[in-house]
Amino acid sequence: MKELVVDLEAESKEIRKRYRALLRACKPTLQRGDKQMIRKAFDMALDSHMDMRRKSGEPYIYHPIAVAQIAAEEIGLGTTSIVCAMLHDVVEDTDISLEDIEREFGKKVTRIIDGLTKISGIFDPNSSMQAENFRKMLLTLADDVRVILIKLADRLHNMRTMDFMPRDKQLKIASETSYLYAPLAHRLGLYAIKSELEDLSMKYTDPDTYKFIAKKLNEKKAERERFVYNFVEPIKEILNEQGVKANVFGRPKSIHSIWNKMRKKSIPFEEVYDLFAIRIIIDSEPENEKADCWKAYSIVTDLYRPNPDRLRDWVSSPKANGYESLHTTVMGPKGQWVEVQIRTVRMNEIAEKGFAAHWKYKESNSDSGLDQWIHKVREILSNPEPNALDFLDDFKMNLFSDEIFIFTPKGALIQLPHNATALDFAFEIHSDLGASCIGAKVNHKLVPLSHQLQNGDQVEIITSSKQTPKEDWLNFVVTAKAKSKIKSALKEEKRRVAEDGKEILERKLKSLKITYNTENINKLTMFFKYPSSQELFYNVAKGTIDIKNLKEFVLSEKTIEQQNGQQFNSHISGLVEKINKKDYETLLIGDDLQKIDYTLSPCCNPIPGDDVFGFITVNEGIKIHRTNCPNAAKLMANYGYRIVKAKWTSQKELAFLTGLHIVGIDDVGLVNKITKVISDDFKVNIRSITISSNEGIFEGSIMIFVNDTAHLENLIEHLKQIKGITGITRFDSDN
Ligand code: MN
Repeated sequence: MKELVVDLEAESKEIRKRYRALLRACKPTLQRGDKQMIRKAFDMALDSHMDMRRKSGEPYIYHPIAVAQIAAEEIGLGTTSIVCAMLHDVVEDTDISLEDIEREFGKKVTRIIDGLTKISGIFDPNSSMQAENFRKMLLTLADDVRVILIKLADRLHNMRTMDFMPRDKQLKIASETSYLYAPLAHRLGLYAIKSELEDLSMKYTDPDTYKFIAKKLNEKKAERERFVYNFVEPIKEILNEQGVKANVFGRPKSIHSIWNKMRKKSIPFEEVYDLFAIRIIIDSEPENEKADCWKAYSIVTDLYRPNPDRLRDWVSSPKANGYESLHTTVMGPKGQWVEVQIRTVRMNEIAEKGFAAHWKYKESNSDSGLDQWIHKVREILSNPEPNALDFLDDFKMNLFSDEIFIFTPKGALIQLPHNATALDFAFEIHSDLGASCIGAKVNHKLVPLSHQLQNGDQVEIITSSKQTPKEDWLNFVVTAKAKSKIKSALKEEKRRVAEDGKEILERKLKSLKITYNTENINKLTMFFKYPSSQELFYNVAKGTIDIKNLKEFVLSEKTIEQQNGQQFNSHISGLVEKINKKDYETLLIGDDLQKIDYTLSPCCNPIPGDDVFGFITVNEGIKIHRTNCPNAAKLMANYGYRIVKAKWTSQKELAFLTGLHIVGIDDVGLVNKITKVISDDFKVNIRSITISSNEGIFEGSIMIFVNDTAHLENLIEHLKQIKGITGITRFDSDN
């Protein structure tokens, strides 16, 4: 290891400098006595982290100062939060106890730091309970949202300074960030932080694409700035003439959102038209806000033709996270669509800083969507789902989705996620209404429970006292609330049936002269391969197990002991053994990069040259995914302990399946030209080819076998030279 040489005096100067910068950031919210509080927290943190250093070699205190600065500057939090941010790691990492904190800073600060310490298990690389920890973190919403906001600031700073971490830790932390923290930031309305978290996460999970898009953006920067200038000047002029005070500028979209668009639409970078958005931020009096926004809208659409399908009015109905803005897409002077976002200074502050800004303006907007959301989170959490991972999936879907607005028969407005059904609506109003729902009237027309609602529908629920929740309801409801209510009703029902099964089994064992005790029940459960004794009882009641099977059990009882030894770990070492006998040359797996058997995951079809990792599955051995696979983040965030390193070695003989999406102008013989390049020139095998042609536009999907990424890129280059082809992209999956 390299010896660390530090100039302590220079370092101490730098610490003071950073502290003063923090104080400047806090200034807008400082009241009498606040400065002393922050100073006290700083002194305590400095003292207790004295001998600690970060992975980069820097003094540890840089981290809490930076977290406090993010809390103040980028989230807009006040003194209590700044003090807590400064002390967020002391109880966890130093000798300071919660009692010490309470003595110096009082109850409020102590409660928040306690919350921060409790949820820090999320960072524990050995913990396989991330989902459960995440639920704990959300539970703290009920105590104090500041815990979550400071945790986000902490995560943001860790993501900004992750270069010194080992690669596998980077991957895991980055995945967790895109899977849990970014959606949470989104839901809390922290758009700037959400975008930065997504970009930073992509920088580590998909470095090549990240660098590629960053480079492309940089190349076209001057051209883009010229375009924005020409687009914006006439708008400014007319706003000025009409006496509307506003700031008009162009804002680049995040790398991650550009990549998302490329992937979703299968288009190359060059075809993403909205690389930036135009923002009009109006300096408006509270009573004129809405009118001023529409005035600006009218000015913009007088100058440029709007796309009527792309008007979004979140001024009249704000999003659940508090976001207010008017979005329109207009045709720019060069025939290019441009998104324009119109909002007031107040709305903009909420858009950038989310919850904290909301708090500040709360008086004028007391019935905020965010309050409703926090209320809803508490409601869902108070009915905990035994499987934390299921809960997390349901919950995350709700974090991501956009809302629709549905009216009750009396005209009250209910917010639901996009794709919500009539049954979701029923559960949203009351769990009893959901449980007894047999149908609904949507806009006075009778529809089934699974009917998907549209924005603005008016819904009346029809119930029956004979109705009970059904298993298949879970296939179409989308809200976390409906899911958790249905699951707990089904569980209750199952428990009741299992009780009956238990009695039946007791009688049967008696007649077979087997003692009814825990040991034998456990053996039986194992023998029939059920996950729990309750499952065993349930299946007895349902008749899945009959006397004949029980006799089988009696006969095989002696062999059971041996079967139990089959555990997960020996399962893996078995795999290693199996492979060492074969001669694989292509992929090295694990910390010591051994040759182990593996399969390539069909969800992203990795080929040699791709950045990949291995995932230990329960039944199918090790599966290889690309680090930018759509499922990767979820796997790494939830099952970090099952991730193994994987690396390609060079090889030329084997062929790997991948897909190409080709777009072009239809021309007789285009298909022939494509297949000629692929089969004749490159001698690549085609597995399948799907072509469609619509009004002169040619679209084709081709599944081919290639050796590695270099081979694939070379092929794409040659295909691009065929006249008529306008775009070629690789796609992830063949299903
Ligand atoms: Mn920290």
